[in-house]
Amino acid sequence: MTSALELRGVTRRFQVRRRTVQALDGIDLTVPEGQFLCVVGASGSGKSTLLSLVAGLDTPTEGTVLVDGRPVTGPGPDRGLVPQAGTLYPWRTVERNVAFGLELLAVNSAERARRVDWYLAETGLSEFRRSLPRQLSGGQQQRVAIARALACEPEVLLLDEPFGALDVQTKEDMQVLIRQIWLDTGTTVLMVTHDVEEAVFLGQRVVVLASDPGRIAEDITVDLPRHRDLSVKRTPGFLSLRATIEDLVRAQHRNGAVVS
Ligand code: ADP
Ligand code: MG
Repeated sequence: MTSALELRGVTRRFQVRRRTVQALDGIDLTVPEGQFLCVVGASGSGKSTLLSLVAGLDTPTEGTVLVDGRPVTGPGPDRGLVPQAGTLYPWRTVERNVAFGLELLAVNSAERARRVDWYLAETGLSEFRRSLPRQLSGGQQQRVAIARALACEPEVLLLDEPFGALDVQTKEDMQVLIRQIWLDTGTTVLMVTHDVEEAVFLGQRVVVLASDPGRIAEDITVDLPRHRDLSVKRTPGFLSLRATIEDLVRAQHRNGAVVS
């Protein structure tokens, strides 16, 4: 069986004036279909670079990215990216933001309407369908971005610290929502975050990135029930896994800082 997503020896170097920045170095990663994978790492460890490469917005210096066995050569509807913040079209209503990708794909209007209705309901936005982004709270705006990505029914959903700018309460509501969407749709999810608690709550698996150059330091299976609610965050199993991974992230960050 082919995996939903595979990275083979993916390296990305940037040339900044005369200096070479090695954002990622030899990333090998296989994500089975339907998995919820979280990648954690300190700021600058290459998380956004990794997602850009998978999204096809950037090209590896070396190595290959495969989605469903096919090499990635550019952006495509098989991958839906939810960026960090502020990427909605301000002049489009909520429903027209959600329809955007479907218009690009020339999906017929009946199917477009069906999917817009479905994903607005799934993200709890039906009553805001005719609002403009600026009339919404930060959390609601991120829900629109999620609905927009989901509407194309991608093979892989890519999330780049999508809740980073939200207050704790809203963030936890969003975590519950994204988990429910994952259970409902069965989509493969690749999420990057610096928030270890978030990664352990959401992921079935957590990969820790080391910094400078970005590389995989640890690959951890989250041994918690598939159906979880926020109360799991207070259980001993959760707390101990969270502490272990936080220590790993901290150690990797220090190692990176020493050699650079
Ligand atoms: P993260 O998302 O984990 O904070 P990034 O992927 O944004 O990390 O960045 C990883 C490293 O690559 C950083 O050192 C960053 O400065 C560098 N980098 C990222 N994008 C570019 C770019 N377009 N040009 C030059 N350097 C870049
Ligand atoms: Mg980033």
